[in-house]
Amino acid sequence: MWFVSLCIRILTWFFVSHSIECYVYGYFWHITDIHLDRNYSRNGNAKNGCHKKIEDIFAFNFTDNGVYGNFQCDTPEFLFNTTIQNMKDLHSRPDFIVWTGDNMPHSKNGFDMDTVYTEVGVITDLLIATMFYYLIKFTSLQGGFYSTLVSPGLRVIALNTILWLSENNENVRVKDPEEQFQWLETVLSNSIVNQEKVYITGHIPPGFYPRTTPKQKGIPMYHQHFVEHFQSIANNYSYVIIGQFYGHFHLDMFQIFEYKTGTSKGSAFIAPPVSPWHDDQSSYSLPVNPSVRLVRYFTESGGLLDYTQYYLDLDTANCRQKVIWGFNFKTDLLIPENAQSSTS
Ligand SMILES: [Zn+2]
Ligand SMILES: [Zn+2]
Repeated sequence: MWFVSLCIRILTWFFVSHSIECYVYGYFWHITDIHLDRNYSRNGNAKNGCHKKIEDIFAFNFTDNGVYGNFQCDTPEFLFNTTIQNMKDLHSRPDFIVWTGDNMPHSKNGFDMDTVYTEVGVITDLLIATMFYYLIKFTSLQGGFYSTLVSPGLRVIALNTILWLSENNENVRVKDPEEQFQWLETVLSNSIVNQEKVYITGHIPPGFYPRTTPKQKGIPMYHQHFVEHFQSIANNYSYVIIGQFYGHFHLDMFQIFEYKTGTSKGSAFIAPPVSPWHDDQSSYSLPVNPSVRLVRYFTESGGLLDYTQYYLDLDTANCRQKVIWGFNFKTDLLIPENAQSSTS
C-alpha cells in the first residue's frame, strides 16, 4: 500500500513541478544561388558551363555531365524542378521563403535586364505554383531594396547589397548609394516604435570571403566605409535585428559580428547554394552539393529556434538516376539566456 501511495506522491510531484510552456513556432525556407541554366546539356562541354556549341552537335561525344548537374556547371532545369519538389515534399506550407538571389548562370558576358526579369519571373512562378501562394506586393522598389511584414511583429528587410559591393566602383565616392542606409535606419527605428523584430536579408554578406589561397588576403565584400556604416547601424539596432540571412559564398557558414569595443553582437547565417557550380580554376572555390535550408522560428517573438540543412548527393543522384535528398544536420540556434545577456 505504501508503495502505491509513494507512486501517487511521486506522480503528483512530477506533474505539479512541470509547468507546461507552449511556444508557437513556424517555418521558412532559405534558398539561394539557384543560377538556373537553360542551356545546360548532358553532353555539353563541362569547361564551357556544360553548354553545347554548334560543332558539338555533330561530334561523336560520349561525355555525360549528369541528369542532375555537374560540379563545373550551373543548375539544369531538372535539378531546379526536383529541388522545388523536394521543398514541397518536406514542408509545403512555409510561412515565407527567404530567397537571397543569384538566379542567372555564371557568364563572362552578363545578361540584359529583360532576360534577368524573365528568369526571376519563371522561378517566382514555379515557387508560387509549387507551394507558395502569396506574393509580396511592393509599392516602391527604388534602389532594389524593400521591407515587408511577414507576420504581426516580424519584419523582413531585403537589402540591395550590390550597392556596397567592393567590386562595384560606381558608388565608391557616394556616401549613401540610393540612400539605402538612411532608409534602413528609418525602417529599423519605425520597427522599434511598432514593437517589431527584424530579419535582414541580402545576397552578399558583410565581412570577408572566408577561403583564400596561402599568403592571399581575405577578400572584403563591401567597400570599407560601407561596411563600417552598415555595422554601426546593425550595432545600434542589434536588439531589433534578430536574424541576418545571406547567400553568395556557395558555402555553409555563419558569421559573428565583433565591434571595435570587442563585444560580439549579432550573427548572420549564410546558406549553401542550389547550384553545384564551383570555380575549378581557383583553388579556394569548393564544389558543394545542391542544398536548401528549412528554418524554424518562434512566430511570436521571431526568435530563431533551429534549422535543418538538406542536400542532394549529386554524384549518387546522377549515378542512380534517382533523387535522394538527405539532410546534413539540424542546428540548434537557441542561445542560453545568460549567454545572451553577457553579449548584449
Ligand atoms: Zn552565386
Ligand atoms: Zn553572388
